[in-house]
Amino acid sequence: MKRAIQHHFRFSLTSSVRARLTLWYLVMVAFIVCLFGVSLYITQISLNADTAERAAQLYQDSQRFAETYRQVLLDRQAPTTLHLKLSSQEIVLLLHPDGNALDSRGPLTDSLIQQLQTGAEQNKGMIDLTVRRSLPWWTINTTYHVLVTPVLNQNTRVAILLVGLPPPHPTPLGIIWFFHGLLALLVAAIGGYWLAGKVLRPVKMITRMANEINATDLRRRLHLQRRDEFGELAATFDHMLARLEAAFKRQTQFTADASHELRTPLTIIDLKINQALTQLEQPEEYRQAFEQIQAENAHMAAIINSLLLLARADTGQIALNLQEVDLGDLALACVERLLPLARASQIVLTTGDLPEVLIRGDSHYLGQMLTNLIENGIKYSRHIGKRVHVEVACEPPLWSVVRVQDDGPGVTDEHLPYLFSRFYRVDKARSSRQKGSTRSTLPDQEKPGGTGLGLSIVQWIVQAHHGEIRVESKIGTGSRFEIRLPLL
Ligand code: ADP
Repeated sequence: MKRAIQHHFRFSLTSSVRARLTLWYLVMVAFIVCLFGVSLYITQISLNADTAERAAQLYQDSQRFAETYRQVLLDRQAPTTLHLKLSSQEIVLLLHPDGNALDSRGPLTDSLIQQLQTGAEQNKGMIDLTVRRSLPWWTINTTYHVLVTPVLNQNTRVAILLVGLPPPHPTPLGIIWFFHGLLALLVAAIGGYWLAGKVLRPVKMITRMANEINATDLRRRLHLQRRDEFGELAATFDHMLARLEAAFKRQTQFTADASHELRTPLTIIDLKINQALTQLEQPEEYRQAFEQIQAENAHMAAIINSLLLLARADTGQIALNLQEVDLGDLALACVERLLPLARASQIVLTTGDLPEVLIRGDSHYLGQMLTNLIENGIKYSRHIGKRVHVEVACEPPLWSVVRVQDDGPGVTDEHLPYLFSRFYRVDKARSSRQKGSTRSTLPDQEKPGGTGLGLSIVQWIVQAHHGEIRVESKIGTGSRFEIRLPLL
């Protein structure tokens, strides 16, 4: 069954939840990486554009201011009177060729002017000037790029012009990335939540349906038609329900059968007591009535003992007393014990080879196993067959074999699978004691009825010894029970 389920669920890679989850996860991570990449790309492009724009402005302003100052100097006017259109934060310093400051604009302090003068003296084309601005709560350092341009008149340097611009507003990369990271996290959270919901939907469904199923309604199934892990889970669950249902049915049937089996002798006992109280007069009649009551009582005791044994076996309460047992000896002892019963039933009880075959087992239960089989052989062959044959063999290296064969009525194929079920009887009318009022006059060994539990007990004993039991039977030819138990 398990193999069948596994075969059914050899699902393809795309249909497995694991593969789909991985795929979705990949898609999500790819999306987040792309989002971050695009954000970085856009930031870089805007940074580059800003820088190029600033450089162009610095160059143009320098050219324009140089031309204006050249005119002012040629006209011998004071450069400080000149009206220059500056952008905010822009700085301008006009130096005489000997280094003296002719004009200065923007946030220039003396020390900054001095720095610029030194730079100009060193004939630098571009000077990086750090301007410090103190705000109440912190100080901002801005590095200006200052372009040094000579103011020429017919190839003669009449002044040196220094124009500076602060760098473009520093891009708040940290903040951009923080928000983009936040966005990516949000996407991951929403995506993950959605994904988990989508993946766990069948689990919810299974839970809901499982909650709706209760012990009295074990016929329901999930029937989840999916070719993935959840389909496999639901199918396993369905199989488990089927097994539970079967076990539940067996249990109910067992209780009903047990009640029925016990009710029959009780009814007979009640009938006999009433008869004795109201109709019987002769001591011989009383004796017969009590004999039957005794027989029914013995039958009830047999049923209850067998039921108790099976119930204790089911709950694992029986501890086998494992010892070295010689199956040959055990079979011989059982046969000797049952010879009187066989003789009384006009059955010849024979033995084949009974060699020494050692196994590890509980001699009490193994004896009960052999007794049940031989008794059945005698019981069911009576008036039909002539012989019950017992033999023991050894099949090294693994097995010891016990065979009990009769030439009784045999069992049809349709009954064979159920022979070991509790209370199962092939011929209920023949085996049952309910019409026992006529049979009650027969001696005990003449009664073909049984408890219907003998073979169930045999099967439990075999399984408890890790063995196997097989039955071959043909109508008119007889039955052969073969038990294989592991050798010592
Ligand atoms: P019972 O107590 O009725 O014998 P068992 O569990 O021992 O119960 O056997 C179950 C049924 O199997 C019997 O009722 C009988 O119909 C059938 N059976 C068992 N052994 C034999 C046999 N040797 N020959 C024919 N039928 C058998």
